[in-house]
Amino acid sequence: MSADQTTATTTATTTARPSGAEPSSSPRRLLEKLSPVSGARLGEFPVAGEDEVRAAVARARAAFPGWRDTPLAVRAEALGRVKQVLAEQGEHYARKISEDTGKPTFEATMTEIGAVPVLLDYILRRAPVLLRRRKVSTPIILPGKSGFIEYFPRGVIGIISPWNFPFQLAVVPVLSALIGGNTVVLKQSEITPIVAGVVEDLFRRIGLPAGVVEIVHGDGSTGAALTRADVDMLFFTGSVATGRKVMAAAAQRPIPVELELGGKDAMIVCADANLERAAEAAVWGGLVNCGQACVSVERIFVVDAIHDHFVEKVREKVSQVTVGGPDEQADMGPLTSSAQLGIVERHVKSAVAAGAKVVFGGERLQRPGQFFAPTLLTGITPEMEIFREETFGPVLPVVRVRDEEEAVRLANASEFGLAGSVWTQDVAKGLRLASRLECGQVCINDVIQSVGHPALPFGGVRSSGIGRYHGDEGILAFMNTRGIMVDRGKLNSEPLWYPYAGKVAHGFELLRGITTRSVGSLVKGFLGLRKKMTRQK
Ligand code: NAD
Repeated sequence: MSADQTTATTTATTTARPSGAEPSSSPRRLLEKLSPVSGARLGEFPVAGEDEVRAAVARARAAFPGWRDTPLAVRAEALGRVKQVLAEQGEHYARKISEDTGKPTFEATMTEIGAVPVLLDYILRRAPVLLRRRKVSTPIILPGKSGFIEYFPRGVIGIISPWNFPFQLAVVPVLSALIGGNTVVLKQSEITPIVAGVVEDLFRRIGLPAGVVEIVHGDGSTGAALTRADVDMLFFTGSVATGRKVMAAAAQRPIPVELELGGKDAMIVCADANLERAAEAAVWGGLVNCGQACVSVERIFVVDAIHDHFVEKVREKVSQVTVGGPDEQADMGPLTSSAQLGIVERHVKSAVAAGAKVVFGGERLQRPGQFFAPTLLTGITPEMEIFREETFGPVLPVVRVRDEEEAVRLANASEFGLAGSVWTQDVAKGLRLASRLECGQVCINDVIQSVGHPALPFGGVRSSGIGRYHGDEGILAFMNTRGIMVDRGKLNSEPLWYPYAGKVAHGFELLRGITTRSVGSLVKGFLGLRKKMTRQK
């Protein structure tokens, strides 16, 4: 962390307290935030310690029964106010997001702020249907019973979020948890402390009861404190390395954990694809948010027959991408994290050393800030670091493949499995190929935008994570399930209950009925057992 554009100092201070925290006169560590665009100092932000985290969790726990018992319609009404605040403050928030991350303000507006009302509308519409108690069918072997399923909140949810989409990836999990009656303690990334303040402002403005959303500010130490605190579930978005630590901490209790981790998404370009559209998509999908999206296009598999033609189209388009800070209205900004810039440089250098060709870009831009040129590489092979590890930067690595079979095999030859895309004008073939990709989401003839489809569950397989959010799964992820069986309670005993004497033969008859689905044997078996019950009265 200190290697990044936030650096730590220790000062005696009580400034910029997280909401509701007690004033403290003990020295607090402060993190200095530098602009990714210019390197200028943007401010200092406090790091909450273990005690502050525990106190926040205690407040969220105290608020839990009240929020849980608030009718769903009232909770929904309160959360719906987020849309009103975004309508009033969205522009201001988007500019703050750009200042903190360096991303273009159009991207901040559409992919960060704009995503929230769409996903929230789905949550508000589906939760009343999904969370209602529902009846399930009861098999004949349980005569006189009926079965119901209902959901109840897990309790206090610890949510830890990353810096790449710092607004959306904090706000949406919080809303998804709150709708079902959970309370939340949120710890956002130290690399984007300005956005952390924006998110705090949003939740303050919607006016939830005290303790329903607690926000603690800080770095990895604050996140680690939250994983050790008295929470009932951890929802983590971030790197695989930290995800492992979060899961290990959750295992100590044990509590459920959802992990939304990294990706190495494949784009498979078939010979019959609309190459113009595919080339546009490759450029946008690889460079949007300066490539710092978990679902960025990170490997482009192009079949041999069209490889050179396609690469030429991509080269033309990459060369037209403008780079600059938010004030320059450019297409692509700087990397938000300076540590990430180092990783991107390393991946490109090692790929070139191993035989890859730089078709465009390939190096840091000679200007202040954390800018790296939009980069197109060909000749990528599976042994290269850039094929195996998440680059998380503005790099398009192209892999030449014989055919679609080889593309699918290599796409799946990865530690990751978050999302992917297939490009063909034969949608039936696209669907067949999509079903063979080992990942959580696939687009056909599109890229990344499936994440914004509110009904589609999102999440990964393998090292890309555990669990799903968005869609119905994203609401249920924060709920416990309760099964209820009802018997009207008229009989004094049950065929299965004591005593067993004289019941064995009837049991065998019943077993025959269950295994052969013979209604005759079931009825005979049950009547036999019922008679025994009656005689023993
Ligand atoms: P990170 O793991 O460095 O940090 C994520 C969060 O964890 C931060 O808030 C950080 O302070 C906190 N943290 C650090 N150490 C911790 C610890 N020991 N215990 C608890 N919390 C701790 O990740 P990042 O660099 O912020 O995010 C980038 C990564 O996130 C990339 O790998 C990206 O692919 C992934 N990501 C995944 C998704 C998804 O939905 N699958 C979305 C966005 C980003």
